[in-house]
Amino acid sequence: MEPFSYAKVPDIRSAIAAGQRGGRYIAGGTTLVDLMRETVEHPGTLVDIATLPLTGITPTPGGGLRIGALVRMADVAADPRVHGAFPVVSEALELSASAQLRNMATIGGNIMQRTRCTYFRDVSANCNKRTPGSGCAALDGYNRGHAILGGSEACVATHPSDVAVAFAALEAIVHVQGSAGERTIPFADFLLRPGSTPDREQALRPGELITAVEIPAFPRPAKSGYLKVRDRQSYEFALTSAAVALHIQGGVIRAAKVAAGGVGTVPWKLPAVEQHLLGKRPSDALWAEAAQRAADGARPLRHNGFKVELLKRTVERQLRVVGGTR
Ligand SMILES: Cc1cc2nc3c(=O)[nH]c(=O)nc-3n(C[C@H](O)[C@H](O)[C@H](O)COP(=O)(O)OP(=O)(O)OC[C@H]3O[C@@H](n4cnc5c(N)ncnc54)[C@H](O)[C@@H]3O)c2cc1C
Ligand code: SF4
Repeated sequence: MEPFSYAKVPDIRSAIAAGQRGGRYIAGGTTLVDLMRETVEHPGTLVDIATLPLTGITPTPGGGLRIGALVRMADVAADPRVHGAFPVVSEALELSASAQLRNMATIGGNIMQRTRCTYFRDVSANCNKRTPGSGCAALDGYNRGHAILGGSEACVATHPSDVAVAFAALEAIVHVQGSAGERTIPFADFLLRPGSTPDREQALRPGELITAVEIPAFPRPAKSGYLKVRDRQSYEFALTSAAVALHIQGGVIRAAKVAAGGVGTVPWKLPAVEQHLLGKRPSDALWAEAAQRAADGARPLRHNGFKVELLKRTVERQLRVVGGTR
C-alpha cells in the first residue's frame, strides 16, 4: 500500500470541497481498501464520508423509495419497505458478498465498485482500465467471466454489482451533489460502457458525491425477484443473473421490468424482453419466447460462449418464478 492522507469530514459541504480538491471518498471501505492494498488504486487523500447524514430510507410520493447512499447493504435488504415493495432489491443484496461485508458496505459504494476482472487486479498485466493505452490482457487471455454484451476493443470487463442489476431493471435514479449543486442521473446513464475510455466508469463529475438512489414507484400489485447463477452457492459473483418485476392485472402483463447481470459491461437492461411481455397473458410459452431475446446482440469471447444460453435460461426461469407459473 502506498502512503496516503486521511480526512474525516463533518458535513456534506466539506466532503464535496475535499472531493473537489482531488480527495477520494471512502464509505464502508470494503472494496477501495482492497484495491489500495493491491496497489491498483493509489489515492493521495481519503475523505471519510461514513458519518455523513445519508443513512435514511424514505418513501417518495406514489410508492417509490429513496435510499441514502450510506445505508448499509444489510439494512437496505432487511428494511420492510424495501422487501415489501421491491423484493428484487432485497434479494439482490442478500445474494451479494457475505454477511460481514453487507454489514459494512454501503449502497453508494456498491454501485461504484470496480470490476473483478483478474487482469485489472493484477498490476503486472496489461489493462486499459487501470493503465489507459496499455492493452487488454483479457481479450486474448482467460475470459470465461467476462462480458458478452457492451464490450469494446478496449475492455470486456463485467460490472460486478448485483443490486445495480435490480436498479437498472427498476429504472432507478441516482441523486448526486457537487460544487455546482444537486442533480439526478437516470441509472441507465450512470454506469458507462467502456468504449475507448474504459477507465471512465460513471457519469459523476469531479468531486460529486452520491447522496441517494431512488427507486421509482412501480404499479401495484407487483411481484419481483432476483436470480443469481454462479460457480458456488455463496460468496461468489454472478456468471449470469436476472432481475424481474411484473405488474399483472386482469390476467394480463401491464408492466414489465427486466435486466441481466454477469453478462454486460454494465447492468444490462432487456427492453426487447420487456416489450414482448406487455399486453400478454402469463404462460410458460410466453416466458420462453421472451427469454429468447435476452442475448440479442451478444458477442461471446473465446471462453464464455456458454453465457449466451445460460443468460436465456436464467431470464426464462426468473420470469416463470416471478410470473407465478412455475
Ligand atoms: C470478497 C468480496 C465479495 C463480494 N461479493 C459481491 C457480490 O457477490 N455482489 C456484489 O454486488 N458485491 C460484492 N462485493 C462488493 C461489495 O458489495 C462492495 O465491496 C461494497 O458494496 C462497496 O461498498 P463500500 O461502502 O465498502 O465502498 P467503498 O470501498 O468505501 O468505496 C467504493 C468506491 O465507491 C466510492 N464511493 C463510496 N461511496 C460514495 C458516494 N456516496 N459517492 C461517490 N463515491 C462513493 C469510493 O470512492 C470508492 O471508489 C464483494 C466484495 C468482496 C470484498
Ligand atoms: S477486460 Fe477491461 S478490466 Fe479486464 S484487462 Fe481488459 S481492459 Fe482491463
